[in-house]
Formats: sequence, C-alpha cells, structure tokens
Amino acid sequence: MEFQYRDPEIEKMPREELLALQLQKLKTEIEIALRTPFYKERLSKAGIKSRDDIRTLDDLNRIPFTTKNDLRDGFPYGFLAIPKEEVVRLHASSGTTGVPTTIYFSRSDLKNWAGFMARCIYGAGCNKTDVFQNMITYGLFTGGLGFHQGGEEVGMLVIPAGAGNTGRQFKMMQDYGTTVLHATPSFLLHLETKMKEAGVERESLSIKRAFAGAEPYSEDTRKRIEALLKVDVYNSYGLSEMNGPGVAFECQCKAGLHIWEDGYMAEIVNPDTLEPVKDGETGELILTILCREATPILRYRTRDLTSFYTQPCECGRTHRRLRRITGRSDDMLIINGVNVFPSQIEEVIMGMKEVGNNYLIVVEKDGALDRLTVKTEISAEIFMDDSRPLNALKDKIKETLQASISINPRVELHESGSLPVTEGKAVRVKDTRPKDV
Ligand code: AMP
Ligand code: ZN
Repeated sequence: MEFQYRDPEIEKMPREELLALQLQKLKTEIEIALRTPFYKERLSKAGIKSRDDIRTLDDLNRIPFTTKNDLRDGFPYGFLAIPKEEVVRLHASSGTTGVPTTIYFSRSDLKNWAGFMARCIYGAGCNKTDVFQNMITYGLFTGGLGFHQGGEEVGMLVIPAGAGNTGRQFKMMQDYGTTVLHATPSFLLHLETKMKEAGVERESLSIKRAFAGAEPYSEDTRKRIEALLKVDVYNSYGLSEMNGPGVAFECQCKAGLHIWEDGYMAEIVNPDTLEPVKDGETGELILTILCREATPILRYRTRDLTSFYTQPCECGRTHRRLRRITGRSDDMLIINGVNVFPSQIEEVIMGMKEVGNNYLIVVEKDGALDRLTVKTEISAEIFMDDSRPLNALKDKIKETLQASISINPRVELHESGSLPVTEGKAVRVKDTRPKDV
C-alpha cells in the first residue's frame, strides 16, 4: 500500500527524537499551565514552580491528575492561561452537573488543532480532490468544527451538513458528488437502513471513505458499515478536553489509532490504583495536551479504557497506537454520540415533587440508533386514572430533560411503588445495547 503523510518528518520521527520533542513541549506546557489560577496552586503544591522543575519525561509522574470535576470547579476561567482578548473560540461539553466543561482556544490553538485533524484526514488517504460531507453536530460539540477545519486544511471541499435528516444527506451526496463522510457509527448504520427505504441506489453515490467516532463501536460494526455502504471506515478518537477529534486516528492499516505524540502525552493507568499498567494491558487513558496555549490540561483522566499496541505500525509512523476504546471507568453513557451522566437525569426528575421515589433509565437500540427511555414512578398523591395531569407531567419531564441533556427521551410514568426494587445497590440504568466491542 502507498501511504501518504502530511507531516512526514514528524509522523515518522525516530522515537528518541520524538521523546525529546515531547519533553520540550511538556516544559512549555508547564510554563503555560503555571499562568492559570488552578495549576499555579496545584503544581506549586507538588513542588513544580517553573518549567525547569521538569527535567525528564519521568517527571510527568510528579504532576497531579486533573478530572472533569476539577474543570467544572474551575469554571469559567480557572484554566485560562492567556488574556481574554486573545481567546477566539470556546467549545463545551456536558459534565455530571449543569456546569459545562469549557475549553478556550487562541488563534494559534485553532491552527494547531486543524493541523492535527488534517494529518488524520490526509493519512486516511484523502486529498484536495475529495468532497467531504460532515454529518455531525456543529455547535459547542467539537466534532463539527474540528473536522470542518481539518477538511479545509487538507483542501477538500467541505459541506457543513450537520447531523440528522437522512433524506437531505442523500440529496447532498448526489448533488455535490460527496466522496468522504463523517458521522457517528450509529448514524452511518442508520443511513444505510434509510437508503433502502428511500430507494437510493448505491451506484448514484460517489462515497469512498467514512470517518466514524464520538462513541464506542466494535470491529464488527466497522465491517458491517463497510460492507453495507461500501466505504472504507476509519476510527476517529478525541474528546473536548483535548480539543476534540484529532487526538488519535487510524491510518490506512486500520489497526489501532495513532495518537499524535507531538501534541499529546498518553499514559495508561489502572483506574483504581492510578499506577501505570504493564505495556499492552488495558487501563484508563490519561492525556496531557502539548499543543494548546489558552487552556492547558495536564494528566487528564479521560475515563476511557484502552491499551497500547506494543509493535510499530506497518505504515512507518512512529507514534504509538491505541486499541479501540472498550468502555469507560465511570458511568457516563454515550447516546447517539451525546454524553449523558445518569446523575443529570436524576437531578431533573428528583427535583420534581410530582415524581415518586423510584426511576429507571433504559437505553436500547431502535434500529441503528440509540433510544433513551426514562421510566419514573409518580408520587402517591397523584392518581393513575386521571390522564390530564399525567400528560402534563410527562411533557414537563420531557422538556426539562431535553433542556438538560440535549436528548429527547421517551418518558413512561408508573404507579408509586411499581418499578422493580433491587436488593443492595440500586440499578438505575438498564443498557441493553449489544456490547460487541
Ligand atoms: P466529547 O468530549 O463530548 O467529545 O466526548 C468525548 C468522549 O466520547 C470520549 O471521552 C469517549 O468516551 C467518547 N469517544 C469519542 N470518540 C470515540 C471513539 N472513536 N471510540 C470510542 N469512544 C469515543
Ligand atoms: Zn499506521
């Protein structure tokens, strides 16, 4: 196979040089972090007061971990390292409570991010002759603008299609001769189902490749999408705390995701002991960003479970590869690509006095997409046979949940005391989606 590299010197840099580059970048990122109120305090407690306190890459171990809660506590500007007038954009992701984790970007941060994205897209075989339909949510979510800018950087014709509306998506593919898609894996599967229903002939489309990410999926799912849509599917991994997509991406070998080690330092630790796992073993991914000046984040606990490949890749890139993310070390659910914590749902429903004491969150597959149903008991004062207040309550729960988690759930109301009660730890979430990762 003929491989193409956007930044060959860096992508194929001998490991020794790459590690030396990492050390330099880590020192700089420490210097940047020390300008933020949060890290100034955190790092000085750990005895790190200047970039010179980091002498080798092993000194990374002296840096305390950062969690999503820390980011929340630091909201809105505790992690900002540059003057506000130098910030040109923010992105945000939902947290366990109403406070979003917010990441700020300077102009050069955006340029760096677009560069990493372009490296991923080009490395998957795309070039300026491609027409790229970005079928993912634009807005605060990083997937839309992240891929958009990366696509433009490669020189592709980018269609900011956004998510949903399969009919419109097919029309655009036909009208503009789309060759590359980006979506969640569940949306790609859904697209195939709809393609049959809409009577769209595969031959009328020019699609060759698809990027799929934002949620976990298995190798079988990849193969299924590839067979059904007749495209090459590449796995894309990222998280808003680390810019968004562009952190790790599959090359044309499709055997693990290269993590760009000149932009990110990756460690894998046991989520209970926080000690490093043995090479090749599964654990929680910890990431330190090395390419951002507005919002430095050091040793971030991603909660994503994965492992490193121990062998180099056939493509010649020296940046290590991650295995597919197999799950999380917390209870975050990913529903059609949107992050939802059960605690967010609980907060909404338990805040309503009409709601009883027991509830159950059900996540299941509805065709290719995910469906969320919230079953809740009503308080003993409300009678099941009076439908008017019940319907009003249902609508209220739906609307409040939609506002809080950005997903439109189904809501079922149950008589007080009728939902199953488990002995011991309550089971609040029933996720029946196949776990085939
Ligand atoms: P967000 O910050 O909203 O972009 O969500 C980031 C989270 O989405 C990650 O921490 C992962 O849990 C999940 N995610 C993103 N990409 C992938 C992927 N390719 N495979 C599995 N999970 C993913
Ligand atoms: Zn490779």
